[in-house]
Amino acid sequence: MSLLAKTDSRIFNLLQTYNHSRENIRLLIDLSGMSDYEKIGFIDAWQEEMADFFARNGFCFACNRLIEQCDCEEPIRPLHPSRSA
Ligand SMILES: [Zn+2]
Repeated sequence: MSLLAKTDSRIFNLLQTYNHSRENIRLLIDLSGMSDYEKIGFIDAWQEEMADFFARNGFCFACNRLIEQCDCEEPIRPLHPSRSA
């Protein structure tokens, strides 16, 4: 298997985990009856965890590239680009 193909399958698996997790979070929020500000805090915390999870696996959460190839201005934590402007 080429390095590129290996990278592709790793990011594919990460994104599958992410999509699955996002579905769980959505269901949880729907069931919880949280207020809007609670939802936002909850989703923020989850996104932080996801960014850490991607970083631990060597990928940037924002652009889905390998960390070494990422040229995001704020790699790993580019979750609120509008606030940093
Ligand atoms: Zn990036």
